[in-house]
Formats: sequence, C-alpha cells, structure tokens
Amino acid sequence: MTTTTTATTTDLTDLTDLTDLASRVRGPVLAGDDPRAAEELAAFNLAHDLRPAVVVGATTAEDVAAAVTWAVHHRLGVAVQATGHGAVSGIDGAVLVSTRRMDTVVVDPVRRAARVGGGARWATVNDAAAAYGLAGVSGSSSGVGVVGYSLGGGLGLLSREYGFGADQVLSLELVTADGEVRRVDADTDPELFWAVRGGKGNFGIATEVEIALVPAAEVYGGGVFFAAESATEVLHSFRAWAPTLPERSSTSLALLRLPPVEALPEPLRGRSVVHLRFAHRGSEAEGAELLAPMLEAGEVVLPGVGMLPMTAADAIHQDPTEPMPVHERGLLLRELGADTVTALLEAAGPGSGSPLPLVELRLMGGALGRQPAVPNAVAGREGAWSVLALGVLAPGAQDAVRAATGRVVDALETWSTGTILVNWLGDATDPSEVARAWRPEVHRRLMAVKRRVDPSNVFRYGHALGV
Ligand SMILES: Cc1cc2nc3c(=O)[nH]c(=O)nc-3n(C[C@H](O)[C@H](O)[C@H](O)COP(=O)(O)OP(=O)(O)OC[C@H]3O[C@@H](n4cnc5c(N)ncnc54)[C@H](O)[C@@H]3O)c2cc1C
Repeated sequence: MTTTTTATTTDLTDLTDLTDLASRVRGPVLAGDDPRAAEELAAFNLAHDLRPAVVVGATTAEDVAAAVTWAVHHRLGVAVQATGHGAVSGIDGAVLVSTRRMDTVVVDPVRRAARVGGGARWATVNDAAAAYGLAGVSGSSSGVGVVGYSLGGGLGLLSREYGFGADQVLSLELVTADGEVRRVDADTDPELFWAVRGGKGNFGIATEVEIALVPAAEVYGGGVFFAAESATEVLHSFRAWAPTLPERSSTSLALLRLPPVEALPEPLRGRSVVHLRFAHRGSEAEGAELLAPMLEAGEVVLPGVGMLPMTAADAIHQDPTEPMPVHERGLLLRELGADTVTALLEAAGPGSGSPLPLVELRLMGGALGRQPAVPNAVAGREGAWSVLALGVLAPGAQDAVRAATGRVVDALETWSTGTILVNWLGDATDPSEVARAWRPEVHRRLMAVKRRVDPSNVFRYGHALGV
C-alpha cells in the first residue's frame, strides 16, 4: 500500500483523513497532485487534462466501495478509469478510481462465458478464450477496456451476428453510490440491469462483469487499401455491396490520411487511402467469395485479407496503439444513399481539404437492430450505419480539427437517426448533449433509474446523465 498524507489539494478544505482512506484500501491512495498520480492517470486519449483531487488504485471491489464511501462522505464525485481510451476532461476535484489492476479473466468453456475484472482489456479476454475456440464480441482494438466498451454499447467485429457488447453481459458486480457491492442481473434488480447495459458508468463502478463468449476461433478478415483516386467508385460500390452481406459478415470503410512515418508500409506512407475492413465468421472460400466484388471496385494499393485468429483481429482495423490526443464525433445514419456518399466525400473525401486522419462508416443491422433476450438500454439500435469522424488535436490544429469533425456531422445530419452510440460521444459530457444518444423515452427511463440509484449524482463524470 502506498499512501500520502500530504494532501495539499488546496481547493478542498478537508483531505486530512486521506490516511483513513488509505487504511481501508489495499491499492495506492494518492492526492491528485502527488507526482506518482501521473502513472495512475495515464490514459490512451491524451487530449484531456485529468486533475482529480484523489486517485485510488483499486485492487478489489472492497477497495472501490471504500473509495466511493469516502468520496460521498466528503461530498465529492467519483470518476472511473481502466485504460483511458474514453478519457474525458472535467474530472477536476473528483475521486478517480483506477481499475486497471483488476484485470483477472476466468473463462468457463462449458457455459461459454467469462468473468472479467473491472479493469481488463479485450486482449486478455480473447487470449484466455482462444484456448477453447471462443472469443468475446470485442471491437476494433483489443487495448480497449471490456467494461467501458460493453456498458457503452460496444459495436464489435461480430456484432451483426451476436449483437452489441452490452447484449453479452450476463451479470455484474457493481459498487453503487451507497457504497454497497451488489450483484446485478435480470433477477436481482431488472431495471438497474436494463439501465447499466447501455447507460455506461452512470450507475456505479462495475468491479466484475460476466459476459457470454461466442464460438469464433478465427475469422476470414483483414483490410484492403484502395488509392484515394478510387474513393468515389469504392464508396458507391461499398454502399450497394455491404447491405447484401449475411449477418456472419461485418464490414466498415474508412477514409484515411496517413502520416509519413517509417512504421507504415511504403504504399501507405504519407498517403490518403480508402481502407475497407472485412470480417466473416466462416470458411476462407465463403469469405473470399463474399468479398470478391469489392476487390474490383477500385485500385488496390495494399491487400491484406486471410484467415485470422481472433487474437490477431486488431489487424482488421489497424487502430493506433500508442496514446494520442484524440477528438471524435459520431452519428448514426438511417440509410446510405448515393447523395449521402456524395455529401460525405465533399466533407471529408480526398481533395476536400479535411485534416481528419480517419472518417469511417460501419455497417450495422442484423442482431444490432434486435433487443437481446433480456432487453437493455443500448442507444442506436435503429442505426443502419455508424459514422465516426476522428481528429488528432496536435498543437495549433485544434480549431481546424473540431471544425472538420463538425463539417462531417453537419453534412450527414439529413440522414441521421438523431441518436448516437454512447461510445462515440467523444468529449460530449454535458448531460443535455449526452441525452441525445438515446430516443427520448429510453432516456426518460434511464433517468428514473439514475434518480433511484444515484440521487446525489455521485457518478457525474464521463458521459453523464445528470439527475
Ligand atoms: C482505438 C479505439 C478503438 C475503439 N473501438 C471501439 C469499437 O470498435 N467499438 C466500440 O463500441 N467502441 C470503441 N471504442 C470506444 C470505447 O469503447 C470507449 O471509449 C470506452 O468507453 C472505452 O472504455 P475503457 O475502459 O477502455 O476507457 P476508460 O477511459 O478507462 O473509461 C471510459 C469510461 O467507461 C466507463 N467505465 C470504464 N470502466 C468502468 C467500470 N469499471 N465501471 C463503470 N464504468 C466504467 C466510464 O464511464 C469511463 O468514464 C474505441 C476507442 C478507441 C480509442
């Protein structure tokens, strides 16, 4: 246990009993201005200055419960961080619980399920599940945390067949605002179980989730890079082809502007390209036949599709793995017509002047559009396509990047469902902006649960509902 009692966080009046908290917690307890707090706060998204009053490196549910109880006693809010892939600012003065030490994963191959610690990443789940030919419904990057991803919805590589990440959650261990460690499932508190699967971190800190695994040792998948000059043909082919795919296939397409770095293969270095991503849970022959029409759609500068173990599925999207300052905005589309594609290309295509390194379209539909056996509060089931516009907030580029993501959203607004995937809310943290993720009746129901379970709005950070 590491403690510091020099809690000179001057804007708080009484932190002298940080020692008391430290005596109840097995992990480190640090004042926010302690130099050692920086390591605890290290996040994937570097865009935000994180200035909590206190950082608790939790090792158990009891540590989390002690931190929440202490925070409530001191009238402080509680924030949570596992990997910082979804880090957002505005946590000044909070008690930040870091769950990254709670990364145990236990697979039950008979029940096709895994018990996953509150701070575990997808890589740990898929590595453990692979031994049994199983995998989680994970997303584009295995560095993302299982709990944050799943409670925010979770749009995964196998989601058209199996649904959102949240749909796989069978039960949770949740520390709520009253400091209780609760087991939450369809029997114990059905309404809270509905809300927390989609309502993200608004109801407590999940110290463990039990998730369903799916039989997927490998997929036929990868990415194909097309020349920027082919962008118009590739996008129009994609919008016609993608909806014809079976639910066992998922696909997305990204307009990329890649930096001139050695780490990239020569045909991609410093170039604008169109990146088609594809994953099919089935044989190589079946997958190749499904993909074939798209390979004719434009000039391929780098192919890269084949049988992939799910433990290597990061090769499909090739997301960055090094921390960076990211700004993103998302929306959902009802349809992707020829005019939608034209609008997208004008806003972000090659020659548009857009500085954004990534603007992607993901095909939704299939199981994503259906409630799971035990319905939940996931936002965005009505979307046919998801759009994500992402920029890097390099010094001096911030205004241009924000303007460019805004141009993409504005250009596509006509076709928007009006809802947003919670995991795509980016740095929208004001409750009125967050509310837009859900249809109004779903948001009203979420608010009723929030007011019952967390009436003082202890969990008021991140994509917060407010009270
Ligand atoms: C490179 C990259 C790829 C991504 N790919 C996908 C994708 O394919 N599909 C998709 O749906 N999303 C994707 N995302 C978005 C990602 O799912 C969200 O940002 C998610 O919130 C990250 O969770 P985390 O725990 O890793 O991040 P953190 O920043 O540690 O946590 C973010 C938030 O998650 C919640 N949270 C985390 N842990 C807990 C907990 N134990 N209890 C309660 N709430 C908790 C809290 O609200 C917290 O503020 C991606 C993000 C990045 C940066």
